[in-house]
Amino acid sequence: MKITDVKSHVLQYELPEELGYSQQYYAERTAHLVEVMTDEGITGWGECFGPGNVAIANKGIVECVIRPMVLGEDPLDRDVIWHKVYNLLRDHGREGMAMQSLSGVDIALWDIAGKVAGMPLHKLIGGAHRTRVKAYGYGMMLKRQNLADHIARFRDEAAAIRDMGFAATKMKVGLGPKEDIELCRAVREAIGDDFRFMVDANHCYTTSEAFHVGRALEELDAYWFEEPVAPEDLDGFRELRAGLKVNISGGETEFNRWGWRRILENRGLDIAQPEVCAIGGVSEYLRILALAHAHFTPVVNHVWGSAIAVATNLQLLAAMPSIPGGMFAWEPLLEFDTTDNRFRDGLLVEPLEIRRQVKATGGYVDVPTGPGLGAEPDRDFIKHHEVDT
Ligand code: CA
Repeated sequence: MKITDVKSHVLQYELPEELGYSQQYYAERTAHLVEVMTDEGITGWGECFGPGNVAIANKGIVECVIRPMVLGEDPLDRDVIWHKVYNLLRDHGREGMAMQSLSGVDIALWDIAGKVAGMPLHKLIGGAHRTRVKAYGYGMMLKRQNLADHIARFRDEAAAIRDMGFAATKMKVGLGPKEDIELCRAVREAIGDDFRFMVDANHCYTTSEAFHVGRALEELDAYWFEEPVAPEDLDGFRELRAGLKVNISGGETEFNRWGWRRILENRGLDIAQPEVCAIGGVSEYLRILALAHAHFTPVVNHVWGSAIAVATNLQLLAAMPSIPGGMFAWEPLLEFDTTDNRFRDGLLVEPLEIRRQVKATGGYVDVPTGPGLGAEPDRDFIKHHEVDT
């Protein structure tokens, strides 16, 4: 079996309303799908993390840099291909966009392997530790609003996400420590004392600001405090984890096993959040999961993007053992973005229908059981949304 072509599809549409996090606002949603074709007619799908112009640049890396390295290779030799590409790019992109691009290709190779074996990805990895996963609904993005309007909207959104059936909710912060604490307090009031909520700062604080907000989060019994400080600030992460009771989470901007080794050995995370569409695909995810578990650090995958990314993550969450295990073991969660996302809801021939499942089951989503990722995109949908680059 041979790889005959590798194509990138960058999809984009204008969001009904601008959404923001602590670093920027964005008006368009982008998804970057990778298609790997073979001489036996089997096609695999993958996805690369990276918004807007990053996705367009990554398409260049996938098609101009990685494609010539993998044409003619056996797609089932995914570990060989991973290391061939990584070694050839070592001088140019051990982290960042080169790794995001390799991720999409690697995921597509795993999709092919599953389709050849006639097995879902989780079976290929070693089986399902769980056949369904609890989802948390994230929303409450920042907008060009004043604090009072943010508070009113966050209250409504938090209660709505709880009422949709999600197991927990997650909000953005980033207006400033004092304002952020008010926002968090409003969300806790809106959802009541018994519903779990998490807070995502997207690395906007200094360490002392993060301590200030983190102490308020302890009082409000937030479940985790995500990316409080810059990902490069390993000392800040370690100090926060040692000094705060709230769980410190992060890692979505980290790449490959060597980056993760630094993070894990630093002991700055209670919960690790690897992004499979950026860290180097499923191949590298599995190595990072093993590393995380070697440090007894629980993993809750970072999930963003289209239905291809969501299906990949459902497969990985199914295949994740509980560490340390037990009758009532700690369980991972599926991250679900409740804002407008046509590329998740409309891309597949058979949609995942996560909202419907969550509503019907009190928060659970079934793991797809079809071969590979268990998710086939609709080509007409892709054509309709594809950006001309
Ligand atoms: Ca995040």
